[in-house]
Amino acid sequence: MENLRTNNPELESINVNSGRRPDERTEEEKVAGKQIDPHADGRAVDVSRINGFPVEGLEKAEGPGADKAKRAAENMVEQAKKDPNVNQVIGPNGGWNRKGKDWEPIEDAKLLNDHKDHYHINVYR
Ligand SMILES: [Zn+2]
Repeated sequence: MENLRTNNPELESINVNSGRRPDERTEEEKVAGKQIDPHADGRAVDVSRINGFPVEGLEKAEGPGADKAKRAAENMVEQAKKDPNVNQVIGPNGGWNRKGKDWEPIEDAKLLNDHKDHYHINVYR
C-alpha cells in the first residue's frame, strides 16, 4: 500500500474499501479449478476514494481539491503500471493486464462496468 504513494505527492488519502476477503469458492469450484478471487488471496485492493473524493464521478467533480484529486488518481494508475509487482489495474477509465513488458487493454465490458466506482489494483504473489 505504501507503494501507492510513491511518486504521487498529490495523493493525500485513499479509501480502501476492499482488501482481503474470504474465499467464497465452493469445494466443487475448487476441484473444477476455479481461480481464487485475488482479494481472497490477499493480492488486490479496491480504492473507492481519492483525497476524499468518490472515484465514481471524480472526472466531473468540481471545487477545491477536485483537480488535484483527478491528477492523483491518474498518477496512481500510471505509478501502479510502472510497478513490476502489479499485474492488473482496472478503474473508471479502463483496465489493463500486464503482458510481459506491455499492458494489454481489458475489453470485457462487464468487468470494466464493475469498476466504475473504484480502482482495482492487483499484484502477483
Ligand atoms: Zn477488486
